[in-house]
Amino acid sequence: MRILVIEDEPRILDFVSRGLEAEGFAVLGARDGQEGLRAAEAVQCDLVILDLLLPRLDGLSVLRALEAKRPELPVVIVSARADLPTKLNGFGLGACDYLTKPFSFDELLARIRVHLRRPEEPGNGHVLRAGALALDLARRQAHLGDRMVDLSDREFKLLHSLLECAGEVVSRERLLSEVWGYHFDPRSNVVDVCIRRLRKKLGPGSPIETVRHAGYRLVEA
Ligand code: CA
Repeated sequence: MRILVIEDEPRILDFVSRGLEAEGFAVLGARDGQEGLRAAEAVQCDLVILDLLLPRLDGLSVLRALEAKRPELPVVIVSARADLPTKLNGFGLGACDYLTKPFSFDELLARIRVHLRRPEEPGNGHVLRAGALALDLARRQAHLGDRMVDLSDREFKLLHSLLECAGEVVSRERLLSEVWGYHFDPRSNVVDVCIRRLRKKLGPGSPIETVRHAGYRLVEA
C-alpha cells in the first residue's frame, strides 16, 4: 500500500512519513499542491493525506482535481483549519476524512486503516480468490468481477472445494465426499447437476472446466 502525503511543513511531512513507513506503508511526499497533483497522476497510490494551506496550488483545488481524475482514491485532509465551513467544503469536494492539526499519529493511522479496508473483504483470510472470482466465506457469496452471485448452501460448498484446489482437477468422488458427505458412489449425477446450476449462475465467464473422465477444474477467470 502506497500513501501520498502532500504537506509543505517539512517537520510534519517527515514525522508522518517515518511513522507510516514504520507501519509498513510505502510513502511518497510532495511539498506543494502542484507537485502533489503530479505525483498522484504519475504514481499508483492507495490513499492521499492532504494539507490545505499549500504553496502553488491550495489543498481544496488539489482535491477538486483529484476527484475529477481519480474519484475512487480516498483523500484524508489534515489541516490547521478547524472551522466548519472549510470542513464541509472538504467533504463536499470528496474527502473521506478530516483531521485538524495538531493531531495524534495513532488516530491518523487508525483512520487510514479504515479507509483502506475494501468493503467486500471483511478481513484477510475470509475471501478465496482465483482470477476474477472471489468467494466471501463469511457472507457465503461469490463475486465474479463486479457481479455478485448468491449461492445455495450446496453450491457454496462445491465452489469452495473447487477454489481451494484452483488449477487442479477435483474428482467427482472427492466432491461427493466433501460437499455431500457420501463416501460411496450413489450412482447419481448430483455433482453434474449442481455444477450445471453453478455455471448458469456464474454466467458466460464461468471458470469451471470439465475434465473428461476425471472431474472438474477451476481455472483463473
Ligand atoms: Ca501547510
